[in-house]
Amino acid sequence: MNIYADNAATTSVSRTALEAMMPCFKEMYGNPSSLYGLGQKAKEIVEAAREDVAAVIHAAPREITFTSGGSEADNQAIRSAAAAGKKEGKMHIISTAFEHHAVLHTLNKLEQEGYDITLLDVHEDGLVRPEELEEAICQDTALVTIMYANNEIGTIQPIRKLGEICRKHGVTFHTDAVQAVGHVPIDVEKDNIDMLSASAHKFHGPKGTGFLYVRKGVRLYNLIEGGAQERGKRAGTENVAGIAGMAAALKEAARDMEVNRDRLIRQRDLLIRELGKIPHSAINGDPVNRLPGNVNFCFEGIEGESLLLLLDDRGIQASSGSACTSGSLDPSHVLLAIGRVHDVAHGSLRLSLGENITEEETWYIVRSVKEVVEYLRSFSPIWRDLMAGKGEFILP
Ligand SMILES: *Cc1c(COP(=O)(O)O)cnc(C)c1O
Repeated sequence: MNIYADNAATTSVSRTALEAMMPCFKEMYGNPSSLYGLGQKAKEIVEAAREDVAAVIHAAPREITFTSGGSEADNQAIRSAAAAGKKEGKMHIISTAFEHHAVLHTLNKLEQEGYDITLLDVHEDGLVRPEELEEAICQDTALVTIMYANNEIGTIQPIRKLGEICRKHGVTFHTDAVQAVGHVPIDVEKDNIDMLSASAHKFHGPKGTGFLYVRKGVRLYNLIEGGAQERGKRAGTENVAGIAGMAAALKEAARDMEVNRDRLIRQRDLLIRELGKIPHSAINGDPVNRLPGNVNFCFEGIEGESLLLLLDDRGIQASSGSACTSGSLDPSHVLLAIGRVHDVAHGSLRLSLGENITEEETWYIVRSVKEVVEYLRSFSPIWRDLMAGKGEFILP
């Protein structure tokens, strides 16, 4: 069996997306800035994609700027709001402790540049509390940036409420919606969102392309200087094929969203129920208020890396919160933010399911995880000590 269960890291490119891209490499390879027919044809593809993308999130096409992906969109949104704030003498930014590094590292830089950053607590359920946001807002607040859905534990924030609070206080509200777009319904109007980041490769589009929604009237500054593409807000010849592929993938994801969601939730909840039966384990994040395909557990007494390698041997590709892969031994900042202690956070497993997963495959995952966890515990010194009564279990 081979089961790709790491769709939060990236997804395969759908056939629809691929078919939309092919002509952009072959017959319609013009530069959208060129005035002759071939160029104008490429421009039409880009503008049609802009309309399609805008429609899915209930925005106007003019409010969409194409970028190289989620990271660039996050950087540009945050930098823009920070610069706009500075002009008015507002140097305070509010975010959360469990954002993606594209957000957190940008905020670190801004802190070094003199901005004042407040990171809201993320509670044990993986959610921020709207009233705590309201308390944190002050006269100097230029921006609130809070992710729509978390990439590790999948929890979906009360975005509409958070947006409402920002609107009430006249503060720009940005959301990193990279994990949410194409997976849950998004309406930038109803949700009171001023800026939103998305990335194609998280919804079966190609890597290296994404978009930033910026509400009309909200100031956008460019990160990349050069030509006048994207209304002068993002220089560089458009990634026509990528943009076409992204729009096709997003349209398809929006069309199939409800069916996919129902199927995923059924498999997700089966996994949550069955993996929860493993002794001394715990689900990370709210079990209900989470992305349809996200399952994230901690298993006491094991190392996430070993779990991943042994699951890979059985044909299951998954991920762990512990970031040894990125060259550091620190456990996931997300799991620490929701209050997991280091030892427990190290034994984490994230399964992010694909839309086509079958019930048979889900049961295969259940059996495999149970067996591998048991096997790893059988020679874990930490586990042996805990079983011998030396030290207390942290998870029930
Ligand atoms: C993947 C991801 C990003 C980065 O997007 P790229 O297109 O890979 O740059 C940002 N935020 C979240 C929540 C993500 O999951």
